Amino acid sequence: MKIFVTVLLLLMPLVGTRTETTSVSPKPKNIILLIGDGMGLSQVSAGYYYNGQKLNLTSFPVTGLVTTHSQSHLITDSAAGGTAIACGYKTTNGTVGMDARKKNCTSILELAEGKGMATGIIASSSVTHATPASFVAHVPSRSEMDAIAKFYLTTEVDLVIGGGMKYFRERSDNRDLYDELQKKGYLVSNFQEAGLRDISPDQNKPFAWFGAREEPESVAKGRDWLPYAAGIAPSFLKGRSDKGFFMMLEGSQIDWACHNNDGPGAIQEMLDFDQAIGKILEFARADGETLVIVTADHETGGLALEQGTGPDTLSLGFNTGGHTASLVPVFAFGPGAENFGGFMDNTEIFSKMKFLLGL
Ligand code: MG
Ligand code: ZN
Repeated sequence: MKIFVTVLLLLMPLVGTRTETTSVSPKPKNIILLIGDGMGLSQVSAGYYYNGQKLNLTSFPVTGLVTTHSQSHLITDSAAGGTAIACGYKTTNGTVGMDARKKNCTSILELAEGKGMATGIIASSSVTHATPASFVAHVPSRSEMDAIAKFYLTTEVDLVIGGGMKYFRERSDNRDLYDELQKKGYLVSNFQEAGLRDISPDQNKPFAWFGAREEPESVAKGRDWLPYAAGIAPSFLKGRSDKGFFMMLEGSQIDWACHNNDGPGAIQEMLDFDQAIGKILEFARADGETLVIVTADHETGGLALEQGTGPDTLSLGFNTGGHTASLVPVFAFGPGAENFGGFMDNTEIFSKMKFLLGL
């Protein structure tokens, strides 16, 4: 039986709350933000139990809980959820990098660039998809993929890895943004020319690699480059600027598996994302100046871990093919991590990162 509860939207602020953050411990030089799209506590739990009760996520010393509602809906989409984390503003579902009045907001990645830091975007979706787009683009609708791609030409991002080559090469305006990136000085490649492992990004050139024409495959269908990308990106970005770096990596397809109510797929995507987290932690432990934050934009599927056929088996049950309003976890490691304990709104992840980087 489903019980429906109506919650009034009237009390939701138009503009996200910006909480003052105080930190007495050393501040980070670099921030690596990892977003598991659709990764609620149940998705983490499913990965944890399926993987023999271990995850890289369990080694984070600080955990908290995050509210994800958007300005327009109690249940956010990935555009409003991404924008809240990237820019610190609550916005309407579907809106990318703009506040609820459709005014551009400045993302943490753009602020970092403005200060001369190196920046990177990695996603296992197309790089024009809502979550990565929230960090570089400003468009009223997430479906404007051609328009979103253009922002990769105007944003001085040092590293781009993900799918979506189509939005750069097969455009309605006939521009070849792949070509334009090369002319701008990027080392650009794609899955047809070379696998990510075959390329050594040149520290002197910004780097872009497209892992698919449109959306990358699922782990089940053979995608294996997200953890590898997580392994090479931090040291590449560290070598790009002595002022530090900001990087966002998304495990994009946890969400898609859960939309499909595909339990095994959700676990595979969750564990792939956790492997990427492991690579990031390896870098951060050795580096000592990097804050690693892992969170989600929302939960997807209303996933429940139910009793399976035996006492030591679980059955994954889904309650919906859409997103839910469940709180999502946040995990933090490294200098400044203590700011991410407790209960917070998704917009506060932005304000805490901004404060900690002194932006
Ligand atoms: Mg996403
Ligand atoms: Zn979704």
